[in-house]
Amino acid sequence: MDRPVWPVSLKTLQLVYFMVPRKTRKIHIGSLVIGGDSPIAVQSMSATQTQDLTATGRQIEILQAAGADVIRIAVDSEKDVEALARLRQQFPDPILSVDLQENYRLAPLVAPLVNKVRYNPGHLYHLDKDKTIREKVEFIANAAREYGCAIRIGVNCGSVDPDYKARFPNDSIEAMVRCAVDHCGLLDELNFSDYCVSLKDSDAQKVIEANRRFAEERPDVPIHLGVTEAGLPPEGIIKTRIAFEQLVSLGIGDTIRVSLTLPNEQKGQEIDVGREILADIEAGRFRSVPENFSDKLNIIACPSCSRVENDKFVELAQEVRRLTQYAEKYKLTIAVMGCRVNGPGETDDADLGLWCGPSRVNLKKGTETVGSYTYDEILGHLKKELDLIISERYGAVEAAGA
Ligand code: SF4
Repeated sequence: MDRPVWPVSLKTLQLVYFMVPRKTRKIHIGSLVIGGDSPIAVQSMSATQTQDLTATGRQIEILQAAGADVIRIAVDSEKDVEALARLRQQFPDPILSVDLQENYRLAPLVAPLVNKVRYNPGHLYHLDKDKTIREKVEFIANAAREYGCAIRIGVNCGSVDPDYKARFPNDSIEAMVRCAVDHCGLLDELNFSDYCVSLKDSDAQKVIEANRRFAEERPDVPIHLGVTEAGLPPEGIIKTRIAFEQLVSLGIGDTIRVSLTLPNEQKGQEIDVGREILADIEAGRFRSVPENFSDKLNIIACPSCSRVENDKFVELAQEVRRLTQYAEKYKLTIAVMGCRVNGPGETDDADLGLWCGPSRVNLKKGTETVGSYTYDEILGHLKKELDLIISERYGAVEAAGA
């Protein structure tokens, strides 16, 4: 019998595969250049309380040892700024980025200490309600300019500016894209050009769509890619890989962050995984993605950060995955978030959401709160609600037996 003849061999496919060249402009983050034909930078973030100098110092060491091009640290108070100053003294070399969280007023205090400032447009409305968004962006840009810092406009699905959410109630992707494009416009008007943009979602397909739409409108602006709250490995790695494969191969993405739910000592894995995905894409080694890949239980979990108030969070995320294995075949989403700041908003789109406080975990069904439970009680309540949803939507009896 004749052997089937393939039009091209896998080897040939790899040889003919080429990546679309990136068209973005180059920007400087300290001594690092991203954009254009510069190598794609791989970065990560400290997951510790910034004021815990020992723990945060250790995170920096781990990420440095893993070869992170940029290390991000969150700052939300003047005490955090003091801690950042001490860390900078201890670690003068790494390229540091600061995450301004809700307190944009800290920009002039942190800019002398770091190389990049990230602000979230969705958090600018919290303070100084008498000031316009433009005035606040100008305040950040002036601080960044004075100290030679780059800026990242970091748009996140869980904290989109309420104005944009109201304008695009049925298109969360467009709300993110419009917000990012408008903020680029503000920085352009202020003659500030050392900026990049991120549009993150926990859904890899939304990340792909949002970044494609943005890149079409602003092909010049460097992009920081990431799937937020991708969750535990290996699922978190797979989701991230899907998004990066589709985007990087199209020339979209100048720096990446892989967000995984990992114990702090293992955070270097985010860098290793990022580099491995990039090397595979460059070599044309893609993983096939079945069309029904998303038609099953999807657990999203945040990568944790300085806002986590109880270290049991990572363990809880792991337990949620173990507990819910019996429901693997049902197309449902369970979100596990580490804090009370972003947790309530970022669990809204999930069928069941858990967000962690210092001593209790809050359980939600969609946007509604089911209750607040201790860390020991929560799993039992989660299972009860999960069984209920499965029997309501799928009429399945097997769920209760688990
Ligand atoms: S949900 Fe909270 S703890 Fe988790 S990464 Fe976001 S801000 Fe940090």
